[in-house]
Amino acid sequence: MDGINGMTRQEFALALLRSCYGYDQFRGHQWDIIDHTLNGGDSIVLMPTGGGKSLCYQIPGLMSQDGFAVVISPLLALMNDQIDALQQNGVPALALNSEKSDDEKRQTMELLMQGKVKLLYISPEKLLSEIDRWSTTITDRICLFAIDEAHCISQWGHDFRPEYTQLGGLKQRFPDIPVMALTATADRITRDDIALQLNIPAARLFVSSFDRPNISLNVVQGSSGKQKFSQMVQFINLHRGESGIIYCLRRKDTETLAAKLTATGIQARPFHAGMSTKQKQQVQRDFINDDLKVVCATIAFGMGIDKSNVRYVIHSNMPRNIEGYYQEIGRAGRDGLPAEALMFYNYGDVVTLQQFARQSGQIQINMDKLKRMQQFAESGVCRRRVLLSYFNERYDHDCHNCDVCDNPPERFDGTTLAQMALSAIKRTDEQAGMYTITDILLGWRKADIIEKGYDRLKTFGVGRANSMSEWNAYLLQMLQMGLIDVAYDENNHLKVTDYGNDVLYGRQRIALNRFERREFTAKAPKQPTTETPGTIAGMVAANEMDKALFEKLRDVRKALAIANHIAPYMVFSDKSLQAMATEKPTNQAEFSVIYGVGETKCQKYWRPFTAAIIAHQRSR
Ligand code: ADP
Ligand code: ZN
Repeated sequence: MDGINGMTRQEFALALLRSCYGYDQFRGHQWDIIDHTLNGGDSIVLMPTGGGKSLCYQIPGLMSQDGFAVVISPLLALMNDQIDALQQNGVPALALNSEKSDDEKRQTMELLMQGKVKLLYISPEKLLSEIDRWSTTITDRICLFAIDEAHCISQWGHDFRPEYTQLGGLKQRFPDIPVMALTATADRITRDDIALQLNIPAARLFVSSFDRPNISLNVVQGSSGKQKFSQMVQFINLHRGESGIIYCLRRKDTETLAAKLTATGIQARPFHAGMSTKQKQQVQRDFINDDLKVVCATIAFGMGIDKSNVRYVIHSNMPRNIEGYYQEIGRAGRDGLPAEALMFYNYGDVVTLQQFARQSGQIQINMDKLKRMQQFAESGVCRRRVLLSYFNERYDHDCHNCDVCDNPPERFDGTTLAQMALSAIKRTDEQAGMYTITDILLGWRKADIIEKGYDRLKTFGVGRANSMSEWNAYLLQMLQMGLIDVAYDENNHLKVTDYGNDVLYGRQRIALNRFERREFTAKAPKQPTTETPGTIAGMVAANEMDKALFEKLRDVRKALAIANHIAPYMVFSDKSLQAMATEKPTNQAEFSVIYGVGETKCQKYWRPFTAAIIAHQRSR
């Protein structure tokens, strides 16, 4: 299809981008993908969460004269969210799924017949059971099949769904309709399998960078118990009023942590698979509506939530693997504004996770993945480099937005320190765990130490010059390097390896990364420095923003969200509010060019927002 009203096709697409979404330019591959689709080509689109996949199939639907794009999605909640958001932008989008009544279904079919729908969201099982019954008036209008979460079609992927496998039949039945398969997670094998299963061997592959430059990556080593909790509280308090997710390993941890946070005045609630559907939905709803800022969750939380203003993700413990970690931190900062990922990591985590891995069906794979995760946590080089290299992406510079870049570790000759610890382990006859060894090194006269006579050992108290956190960190490094081993079948007692013996007896020297308490909380989130075109271009410099006004605009947004029965982020994203608090539009024309303000939203909302801005300016 070519452009209309004398516009080229691209100008037409850009005009729609402005009028429907309030954005001025396409990001990354978006336009190439759209253009390829308009030319009738099939495609496989790999983009990270928050990368902007939805525009790739929405724009072709919008551009089609009286046709529509079929969007196949497995997650009902996400489907409903997207439709609400599109309707806010004045885009005629509808859904067909098991939640719809017969009446709603009839109405939808009627509108499709009339060519009045631009986007039809549908579950795979619904599509496959219905499409044969659709009249050609309707099927002739289909301009695209977009398959979201396309990795679900592959047994190699991490989320195989049998109902997806039948989708391969679409291309055979409708060879002329382009197919677009989209996913945020697919390794090479899964990608190839997607093309095979969907019968689109000639599909063009569009791979975007998986980097999320706005997410600052931070790891805190060696904290546990009270210290970890107080660091967490300090961090959250710096993010007061902002939304965050805290991931825990176990259900009961989500409950205790939420209770403890609430007791310190930070309202938090747990979320895990053991709760009733009703309870879970309530937590999700409150979180989305900004009524609840902090959720302590197991990995189940976040799937199918399209909330763009999550400002931080904390991992209370180290996650099991890098894929999971990346997916979880990806829930932060989808609006492109600065966001923080903070991971706590200590020795206890490693022990627990190794136990999990041993109990799992795929011991070797899971142990290997855990090892890679540890290497990330222990890294002495830029963390983003480690992550992106894990995803086979070339990234050849330091990111300047991670704790390692901020504060590169100093290495020192750790032979003497290691010898102290190794000697302590030997003197317990290798019958003590990590915590007992630390107590011995620090010379703490705890009851069980005295009971076992460890206070009479020659090594008792030799490590007093270093703190407990330091010893935790150094012992961990020794474990990583293979100087010591943990006997999982013997109450996790520490054993000295051959390599450890070489160090203990002075046959080999070792270097350690100097432990430093990283000041992860004291700084305000940084602006990313990488200048990826489109990704952070147009990001509002937070220092030019009027913070007090921003808070007022948030209140306006909240009130409008309640009145319209939608989530606040669907009224406007934080990024749009920041743009308003910076550019301070006071009339409709000025308001209409703000980031994220399309025509429909401009009509609907310019008055309350500009009124708040004017009132704010008068009051000063
Ligand atoms: P994904 O589906 O890949 O996770 P989304 O499609 O939800 O990502 O897009 C993430 C965010 O980026 C959304 O808030 C979206 O409106 C915004 N976005 C997408 N494309 C653009 C663009 N070209 N310019 C500005 N913002 C964009
Ligand atoms: Zn870095």
